[in-house]
Amino acid sequence: MILSYRGRLSGMHEFTSELEDLAERALTYSLERLKDDPPLDGPRSAHDLFAEVGNTISAEGMGGLKALEVFTDVLARACISTDHPRNLAYIPSAPSEHANLFDLVVGASALYGGSWQEGAGAVFAENQALRWVADLAGLPESAGGVFAQGGTVGNLSALVVARAEARKRWPETVSWAVLCSKEAHSSISSAANVMDVEVVLVEPNESGRLTGEAVAREIDAFHASGSTRIFAVVATAGTTNLGIIDELATVGTAAHERDIWFHVDGAYGLAALCAPSARPKFIGVEKADSLIVDPHKWLFAPFDACALIYRNPELARAVHTQNASYLDALHHDDSWNPSDYAINLTRRTRGLPFWFSLAANGTDAYAEAVEKTLEMAQIAAQKIREHPRLELLRDPDLSVVSFTRPGWQKDDYKNWSDSLLDDGIGFVPASSHKGQSILRFAIVNPWTKISDIDQILATL
Ligand SMILES: *Cc1c(COP(=O)(O)O)cnc(C)c1O
Repeated sequence: MILSYRGRLSGMHEFTSELEDLAERALTYSLERLKDDPPLDGPRSAHDLFAEVGNTISAEGMGGLKALEVFTDVLARACISTDHPRNLAYIPSAPSEHANLFDLVVGASALYGGSWQEGAGAVFAENQALRWVADLAGLPESAGGVFAQGGTVGNLSALVVARAEARKRWPETVSWAVLCSKEAHSSISSAANVMDVEVVLVEPNESGRLTGEAVAREIDAFHASGSTRIFAVVATAGTTNLGIIDELATVGTAAHERDIWFHVDGAYGLAALCAPSARPKFIGVEKADSLIVDPHKWLFAPFDACALIYRNPELARAVHTQNASYLDALHHDDSWNPSDYAINLTRRTRGLPFWFSLAANGTDAYAEAVEKTLEMAQIAAQKIREHPRLELLRDPDLSVVSFTRPGWQKDDYKNWSDSLLDDGIGFVPASSHKGQSILRFAIVNPWTKISDIDQILATL
């Protein structure tokens, strides 16, 4: 008699009646988390957590029900909800209901997203979502890429391709540099560090933008002063700290006139390409040789997903494809393997929750949701202008609203921010700009209402 292959196993690979019960509870918890207002919650020390849950790993295991309870009752509550409407820290997240729900489906499906051979259907769907982004950016039909782990890996993967191209063009050059604004994201210097290349930091203009004029001047001066060559110019489309968009058109031209790769880091800001009111701010993005945008930031997808798109993905494929005898079967035709376009091989089909939500809700819903957050940022800015003790740092380009409380020192900001979280009101850590402490609201959540902004401002 042939036993079911499941019948011969014991324990953790069997779907027992006990597991049925556990599944019910796990799904109920998940659905409640989706439906209800998220709790803000907050961090606890490892010491404190250990005192409550002890060592959770043992030879015999504690059982699923107990482990779930440890998570839901203790551990989950020690994690700040990134989708809370008054979590305006760093760049938070606000996955749509559809995207989160579909993440459950992805989790249950053991999908492999590295190759067309194993994940054709999923990769097909991810590619349509990437296409939507590429079209918004005005990239050609040939453009394509991959959902990488995050903006950091996306930027690094793109810059590695940029350097490979430069090496072809200037084979004698041995040392390389990437040029970006002083306001560029820390992941650019991190990438440069991994690649062992220099970073040329350019001062932005008085409105905080990197300009083509400054880029042209710096490149020419840099090349005149030594043998290190600039292989890529990075413009930021929405800086993380203040939401500033560099002058994409002039910066792109300055790079291209010198045969240099133009990369646009839009991890946060390029999401606003889908909002008609913001679209003109991104003129020039269509010149990009590569770009990134993180759907987990402002396109309502769960962590973690960075859309990395190349104008000419063939160049990326030549650089990132891993070759080995055990991978030969993947490369027998020219099918699209996502692992060939970034520093990754095995990958979760992390673009699928984004695809599902986009397919289900339609792109108009995205435009509307992003417009709503842009509008809320303008309202918040106005409330800060009118606030007796606060000073708006600049008119927001996008949905980051930055401001100060004149007279406050670094510690005052920190103490205020700590109490805001301790009191369960919101999460707004201090940042700094030009050596001065600042506060910033990063509004990416359509659930953030005027009353939420008011509630936070009332504590200032
Ligand atoms: C967040 C951010 C990154 C890094 O993205 P991760 O997904 O956090 O790795 C890069 N660039 C900019 C402009 C960002 O805002």
